Amino acid sequence: MKYSKTIFIFCTILSLYSCKSQSAHNVTKQSVANDTTFVNLKDYSKDFVYDMKYATSDNFLKAKVYDCAECFLRLKTIKAMVAANADFMKMGYKIKIFDCYRPLDIQKRMWKIVPNPDYVANPSKGSIHNRGGAVDITLVNAKGKELDMGTSFDFFGIEASHNYQNLSQEIKDNRTLLKTTMVQNGFNALDSEWWHYNLKSALNDTVSNAKWNCD
Ligand SMILES: [Zn+2]
Repeated sequence: MKYSKTIFIFCTILSLYSCKSQSAHNVTKQSVANDTTFVNLKDYSKDFVYDMKYATSDNFLKAKVYDCAECFLRLKTIKAMVAANADFMKMGYKIKIFDCYRPLDIQKRMWKIVPNPDYVANPSKGSIHNRGGAVDITLVNAKGKELDMGTSFDFFGIEASHNYQNLSQEIKDNRTLLKTTMVQNGFNALDSEWWHYNLKSALNDTVSNAKWNCD
């Protein structure tokens, strides 16, 4: 029942094309996918590094809230991410991913713990994560080591802000590298979180609560 329900949910949200596949994974690979179709990043590139924090208990919820570590986003967000990563790879870096599309129910759990719109979007409006247009990321070097961004991911304090200046030049340069390249590839930065990027063209897409298939 859970299986068919998942397919049903994906079919519902992907209402512009027929949904005949036997799994959500296959649904995403249909050739008729358009820019707003939800797809899995790993089907489009093998060049990303993953550390999906919400598929572990290593996050501020202190709970594993995803059944498996997958990065689903709308196709247009995937295209922009692949382009940004290509730019970073020319410079010897890769994008490391902490979070991608996030079902609305997870947003509600986050808001209960941190009801502060500087750090967690109010689920009554929905986050761009819930729209499949936001990513939480950092950069790793050729050895896979994270660049120093000054704080950990999901550090809810002023030190995580792009406007915070009391940082070493190296950290400022690392944040600038991440921000400049992401903006050049169609994303907006969020002032309060150095790791968060919204695809500009995703702001008006619909919020979703669909869960991805872990089979
Ligand atoms: Zn985010």
